[in-house]
Formats: sequence, structure tokens, C-alpha cells
Amino acid sequence: MLSIRSTIALGIALAVLAPTGMLWHLEQELTRKAQAPLIEQNRQAVLLMSAAALVQPLWTLDSQQTEQRARRTLRETGVLSLRLSERRPLATPLVLARPGEAAFKGVPLSAPIRHEGELLGELELWFDPGQIDRLLAERRSATIQLAALQILLSVAVLLALLHWRLLAPVQRLKRQASEIASRADVAPVQWDQRDELGQLGEHLNDVHGQIDALFDQLERQKAELEKIALHDTLTGLPNRMLFRALTGAAVAAASRDGQRLALLFIDLDRFKAVNDAFGHAVGDAVLVTLAHRLRATVRASDVVCRHSGDEFTMLLHDASDLDEVVGTTERLLAKLEQPVQVDGREITMSASIGVALYPDDTTDPAALVQHADTAMYAAKHLGRARYSFYRAEFNEQLLANQRLEAELREALLNDEFVLHYQPQVDASSGHLVGCEALIRWHHPQRGLVPPLQFIGAAEQCGLISELGAWTIRTACAQMADWKRRGLAFGSVAVNVSALEFRSHRLVDVVTQAMAEFGVQPHELEIELTESVLMTDTDTTQRIVERIKALGLPLAVDDFGTGYSSLSYLKRLRPSKIKIDRSFVRDLPGDDDDRVLVHAIVQLALAMGIRVVAEGVETEPQRAELHRMGCHMLQGYLISRPQPAGGFEQFARQLAHTALADRVGLDASLAD
Ligand code: C2E
Ligand code: CA
Ligand code: CA
Repeated sequence: MLSIRSTIALGIALAVLAPTGMLWHLEQELTRKAQAPLIEQNRQAVLLMSAAALVQPLWTLDSQQTEQRARRTLRETGVLSLRLSERRPLATPLVLARPGEAAFKGVPLSAPIRHEGELLGELELWFDPGQIDRLLAERRSATIQLAALQILLSVAVLLALLHWRLLAPVQRLKRQASEIASRADVAPVQWDQRDELGQLGEHLNDVHGQIDALFDQLERQKAELEKIALHDTLTGLPNRMLFRALTGAAVAAASRDGQRLALLFIDLDRFKAVNDAFGHAVGDAVLVTLAHRLRATVRASDVVCRHSGDEFTMLLHDASDLDEVVGTTERLLAKLEQPVQVDGREITMSASIGVALYPDDTTDPAALVQHADTAMYAAKHLGRARYSFYRAEFNEQLLANQRLEAELREALLNDEFVLHYQPQVDASSGHLVGCEALIRWHHPQRGLVPPLQFIGAAEQCGLISELGAWTIRTACAQMADWKRRGLAFGSVAVNVSALEFRSHRLVDVVTQAMAEFGVQPHELEIELTESVLMTDTDTTQRIVERIKALGLPLAVDDFGTGYSSLSYLKRLRPSKIKIDRSFVRDLPGDDDDRVLVHAIVQLALAMGIRVVAEGVETEPQRAELHRMGCHMLQGYLISRPQPAGGFEQFARQLAHTALADRVGLDASLAD
């Protein structure tokens, strides 16, 4: 590809030289054509004038004059030679030629010479044939000089113009572009030129500005991204990655200086409930407030990090004084428990904190976090809203939990679970009105394991939905079997964990089991705890509604131990509430319990809900509960939970005595 410069030079050469050459050639042709008749006329004129000039001397026979005139003719332009032939007898023709020219060569022309009609003689002239070419050659050199001058001038003017208007600005544009490309920090180029290239230059200035702005923006974004990569976007605290790096550095420094570090793992208690009840925006606001409180409670040199969700980690430098660490931890707990104001709401939170120490617990930075986490779990198990220092046993506990989970999986596969059934009787008549199915684990080594020892673990590892499905199916199968064998009584109640209410699978399991075993809705009761009703998520809410829609009675278990919110009682309208054992235990002696149970019964009565008292162990308890208006009783006084066979025997016996009582009653009436 040719450069602009060479292209323009070539263009000029072609555009100027070619037309000039053609014009020149054309002009030569035209001149030749135009000159030829002129020369012809000129020759005729020379001939006629010369002939006329010879008339007088020929008439007067003046030979001297004749020759003189003939010689003058020879001097006329273009005449090379001549011959004058006289008519007079014996006259010899006069032949003259220019010096150096031969006679009778060239273009001949002749004319007669007459005097008053009498022919005196004939004049013949020979003209130079190259006359026209010589003429043209003279013009040609003049034209060539002119054309050359014109070409030179126009090329010079064109080149100057091109340089001024095109090449120089293009050079500037090139320089400007390379400055933009090199990101040199230069002022914008001044363009006084208003033509297209000037506009292009101004555009480049704009582009330069835009590119600069873009680069600035990119730099800012890069810095922001780096910050984001190391900080949590919601709270602005360092994130896990930065915390790990800072912990590593702190451990290295502490090992060098022989110092102690404390690593705190902080987990908010029941944060999920806040999210579920008030939405994520409120949850986020709570997190931000609490994060700021954490940050403000410790020294600037200490590190506070958002670990994930509602978990924070904290690194306390110089923790040589353990009392100080305890003091800080207690201060943190207290700060976290102060109410948070969000959107006019007041939310009170609490947290569980685990503390691990370097180098006491471990010298490995990663293990330090893990130990603090384990200690935090221990604090949770101890009832939340407290702290716990790491102890080696915690790890054993953790391992034991993991072992238990593995065993539970095995147990499900090996069919090691059984249901025991505990009767519920009418408080007035003592008739059997239903039973509660309670799960047990037939452990090959440990024997019969009570549910409280494994339900929690099953919930934690997600096995609870399998276990729940097994319970519902087994209870339905048992109910069908009893019905088939003529044992008819109210309903069998199954306990459903709050976690099972998070998945619609529960509804499918219930529907399928009822269909498969031919169980009617009123024969199966679902016991749920208040916590289910408090988790205000849409899913849980819909699942509860779907179960109600199936026509199944709902019983609120352990009533009085949770939130006992009246609004959900109104919304849910359970068919039963079960007064927790803890309120029954100290009856009839304890005044507070009496007042509480009385209030619960009155409330339930007013709302048309039936009341079951749990854990009835003594006759005075039964009498008091009956007196207060409790509808149903459940407890060791009536029967312990028993395997299906034992329960069946109990039920048949009870029916028999009731029948006998009635027969006795009838007999006494008859008396
Ligand atoms: P719960 O639903 O409150 O069940 C009543 C518990 O009280 C049973 O303990 C029962 O044996 C015990 N109990 C009954 N009468 C008396 C009495 O007069 N005195 C005393 N001291 N205790 C009495 P259990 O069977 O150990 O069950 C404990 C908890 O385990 C249950 O509490 C329930 O929350 C849970 N659970 C039991 N079976 C299942 C199940 O199949 N699924 C689920 N998710 N949880 C279950
Ligand atoms: Ca129960
Ligand atoms: Ca209960």
C-alpha cells in the first residue's frame, strides 16, 4: 500500500502531466491543420505578386529588370528555385535557385504572365516543403517551456496546499493519537483549523477526555473490587479471606513476641426467625447495626470480621489477661442484647460466643477458628445468649454427634425404630379418646433409646424428614391394623418436627399414608410446637394450611413453653392444645401453676379449643385438672407409652371396664 504522500504525488503526476501531454499533441495537430491553407495561400500570393511584378519588364523587354525582379522573387520566404519561360522566340528560360539549393526541387506552383490578354511567359516557383514543420518546431519548443512552467507552478501550489491542509494536520493527528494511546498526561491539542481534519482533531480531544475518564473510572472500580474482595459489602467489615490473612499475620507476630491471642466466634441466636418474620431488609439492617456495635466495642487494633450470614469472628490482640477477655466477651454479649430499632420496630437479639486461645488451644490459625466455632456450638447447646471457652471435650462431643448421625442413617436402613403409644383419656369419663405415637430407637447395643437423645441430631443432619415420614406411615399402618381388628377409638397423634414444616413433602407423605392405609382425616392428628407457628415463612404457613385443608386435627404441643402467641391461636384454630408437663408437675400445690393452667383452660374454652394435660402422674393432679375443666388427660397415671401390643391390651381392658361400669350403672338405674 502506498503512503498518502506517494499516492498524492502519483495522482498529481497523472492528473497534470497526462492532460498536458494530450493537449500539446492536439495543439500540434490543430496548428498543422490551420497553417497548411495559410501557407498555401501565402505561396499563391507570392506567385501572383511575383508574376505581376514581371509583366512590366517582360513587356518592355528589359532583361536586366526582368532578372532583377526574378531574383527578388527568389528572396521571398519558402521559395527555393524558379524558372521563367518567355514566349518570345529564341528566348532561353531563366532558371534561378537559392544558394545551396538544387533547382526544380520542392513543391511546384506556376502562373502565366499576361499583358492585356497577351501571354508574355510563365513563372514556375518551387517552394520549401518543410516550411510547416519548421514553423511547428518553433512553436513546439515555446509550448514545451510554457507547459513545463505550468506543471511546475501547479505542482508547487498543489503540494503546498496539500501540505498545509492535509499532510501537516494528518501528522498532528497521528501525534495526537499516539499520545492518547500512550496515555501520556498531555494537554488537549489546540485545533484552530475548522475543516474536517480540525473537527476530527477536536473529536480526538473529546475521545481523549472520554478515555481518560474511562480509565479513571476503571481505576476506581479496580480499587473498589479489591476492597469488595476483602470486605463484606453489607457491613463493610473485613471478610473471611482478609480475616484469615490477618489471623495468620497476628499468629506469626504473637509467636515471635510470646503473646496470647483470643479468637471469638460470634453467632446470633435465632437470626433466621427475624429474617422470616420481618423480611431480609430488616434482617440486613439488624446485621449492620450489630456489626457496628461489635466494631465499636473492641480496640481499633482488634479485628472484627463478618464470617458469613449471622456469624462474626473477632481477633483480640494481647489477650494475656484472661479476665480481660472474659470482660470483653461479656461486654459484647451485653451490647448485642440491646434492642435494635428498625423501621419503628424494636428487635432484641442475643448471641452465642465461642472463644479459642492462641497458643493455649492450638497454634494453627485455621484450627483456632474451628475451635472457636466448636465452643460457640457448646454455648448454643447450653441455652444460647452466652459464651463458652473452647475445651478439648467439645471436639469429642462434635465427633460423637457425627457418629450418632451415621448410626441414625444405619438405623433407618435396618428398621431399628419403633413407635410406642400413650393413651389420652376423657377427664370426666376416663374413656379412651386417642393416643400419641412416640418414637424409640431399638439400639442393638444400647437398648431402647428415648427420642430426646436422637431427634435433635436427626434434625441437625437433615434425617428428620425421613424419620418423620417413617413415623407417619407406621402410625397410619398401626391405626389401620387396629381398626381391622375391631379396636376403635379417637385418633392417633404424631409429633412433627418444626423442620418438617419447611418442605411440602410432609403433605405428600401424609396424603399418601392415609390413602394407602385407609385412614380417615379425623383418625390422624398432627402435633406441632409453637415454634412452627412462630416461623412465619410463607412455606410453613402454606403447609400448615394444606394439612388443615386435608381435614386433619392439629394439636399445639408443649403449650406455654414457647411464645404462646394468641394471634396464631386465632389464625390457626387448632383443635387441641396440650398443656406442657412442667405446669402439671407441681399441681395442685403450686399457686402460679394453678393460675396458669386455669387461664389456659379458660382461654381454650372461650375459643372452642379442647385442652389436654400432659404428664399427669398423680390422682391429686388428675382431680385438680378435672376440676379446672381440662378435657383430656395423658400421663403415667393413666398409662406409660407402650408398644402397640401393650397399648391394645390396655385399650381393650379400658373398654371392658367402661362397659362393666355402664352395665353396673344401668343395673343401679333399674333398681
Ligand atoms: P412430647 O411430645 O411432649 O411427648 C411427651 C413426652 O412425655 C414423652 O416422652 C412421654 O413419654 C413423656 N410422658 C408422658 N407422660 C408422662 C408422665 O406422666 N410423666 C413424665 N415425666 N413424662 C411423661 P418421650 O417419648 O421421651 O418423647 C420426648 C419428646 O420427643 C416428645 O415430647 C416429642 O417432642 C419428641 N418425640 C417423640 N416422638 C417423636 C416423633 O415421632 N417425632 C418427633 N419429631 N418428635 C418426637
Ligand atoms: Ca407430643
Ligand atoms: Ca408435649
